[in-house]
Amino acid sequence: MKKGRENGPIHGPFLNSVSNKAEDQVMKYQEKFMVLTQKQHEENMRRAIELSRIASIIEKTGGVFGCVIVDKEGKIIGEGSNHVVSDNDPTAHAEILAIRDACKKLGTPHLDGCILYTSAECCPMCLAASYWAHIDHIFYGATIPDSRQYGDFADDDYLAEIRKDPKDRKIKYTEILRPEAVAIWKEYHDMPGRVKY
Ligand SMILES: [Zn+2]
Repeated sequence: MKKGRENGPIHGPFLNSVSNKAEDQVMKYQEKFMVLTQKQHEENMRRAIELSRIASIIEKTGGVFGCVIVDKEGKIIGEGSNHVVSDNDPTAHAEILAIRDACKKLGTPHLDGCILYTSAECCPMCLAASYWAHIDHIFYGATIPDSRQYGDFADDDYLAEIRKDPKDRKIKYTEILRPEAVAIWKEYHDMPGRVKY
């Protein structure tokens, strides 16, 4: 937080002392969204980029993907690097592992107010996981076309598939035994004290 005063305001007592209307608006915005300084964003992204190098070049656990999640105070609460190859796990993306790490540390499935920094733009799975986790803001370094150009990753193909009508997708998608499945949904719906999230 000390750095915040030198490089621009973050939030807290320093901002409370300003009374100018425009600055009040900035304060309200910052109180709501916990805006860090550009320098802090860059520091967090550099850590994500470092993790992407560890994954791909140093430890060779997977692709060029690293991720960092910071909490409302700007503190790093989760980190992840791609482990698809080392773990034989197609879901071991940096963002997924960072979300798991952060949620475990905070003891909650939701990360409201948190910021996710990913060294490369999210794939559809990680973007959806960020919604499930209630991430507030995503910063990305390399773009999806970059990961296609330098690593032949197929994120754009999957995005295009998801946008298609289900009947036109490569993965066949067929409804079966809906009444039996919905019976459990009805039981769950009517159950007293069911766990909501
Ligand atoms: Zn992903």
